[in-house]
Amino acid sequence: MGIKLTDSDTIPIMLESGFKPLESYPGANTPWKCLHIECGQIVYPRFSNVKNGKGCKICSGNQKFTEEKVKEIFPFAMDKMVLKYRFS
Ligand SMILES: [Zn+2]
Repeated sequence: MGIKLTDSDTIPIMLESGFKPLESYPGANTPWKCLHIECGQIVYPRFSNVKNGKGCKICSGNQKFTEEKVKEIFPFAMDKMVLKYRFS
């Protein structure tokens, strides 16, 4: 325990998760300036979170409005759309 990780230990894990680190590894629980390749935003994930499979906050924020969520919020709109599709 207490093994200190370095850039070469941590950067490949970040890249695998889709984050491109923009500065040296700051520590597992320190926000780390990275480019999230998928959305092109600068984000500050913690290495410990990324390692545990947590993604980009900006992307996960957007993902709250999935089709499931829209159905939940606008059930009537979805019904109308379904009906229109069915009877047109
Ligand atoms: Zn993102």
